[in-house]
Amino acid sequence: MHFHIISIFPKLFDSYLSDSILKRAQDAGHIQFSFYDPRSVTQNKHKKVDDIPYGGGPGMVMMAEPIITLWEEITKKTLKEKIPFTKKRHFKTILLSPGGNTFRTDMAKSLAQDYTDIIFICGRYEGIDARVAEITGAELVSIGNYVLTGGELAAMVMSDSIARQCNGVLGKRESLEEERISSHEMYTRPEHLKHRGRVYSVPEVLLSGNHKKIDEWRETH
Ligand code: SAH
Repeated sequence: MHFHIISIFPKLFDSYLSDSILKRAQDAGHIQFSFYDPRSVTQNKHKKVDDIPYGGGPGMVMMAEPIITLWEEITKKTLKEKIPFTKKRHFKTILLSPGGNTFRTDMAKSLAQDYTDIIFICGRYEGIDARVAEITGAELVSIGNYVLTGGELAAMVMSDSIARQCNGVLGKRESLEEERISSHEMYTRPEHLKHRGRVYSVPEVLLSGNHKKIDEWRETH
């Protein structure tokens, strides 16, 4: 999976992508990230990427043209690149928006299955000129019912969740775990944890070795 991120703050992604599973997955070639900064293609001398909203109102709106220029570059350029995939490239464009369709694991699964390239368009300020979505055919997606200062965290959250659905990203053991009956309540050593005079113990059933009983317990915890 190749993630293409259009953002005026590409550095925000550095720390998260340079450690742990997403780092390993990039090194192994399972996933790839590329960044595109609208400021790099602005025509005006102050590198402005936003302007005041038509119809008035507070705040600024991100201008359509720099974003569309980058989107065209991505969709044309990557088609010509040497392709590490055997299958044909399939692009999906997602515009992060608090008013969009809510992101869920099933969306992550189908995106990982159906596409080779995902383009994320990250908004800032009051949002993005609506003609970007119209021209690119982007799906508007929200990561939840709250408003962030920008789309970068939302793009990162989605990439993380989509990446773990891509082949090879999770180790065999972790992928198998995913298919098993899993519980949100889990324990590791020590068996008895002492804290302020009280003892907190691991539920007996997990120590029983009875896998049928353990699975039953996990379904309800
Ligand atoms: N005035 C806008 C809010 C803009 S927030 C409104 O009410 O719709 C600025 C940018 O942050 C948005 O363009 C979007 O890209 C991103 N963003 C904020 N909250 C988000 C969320 N919950 N999910 C996805 N993107 C979000």
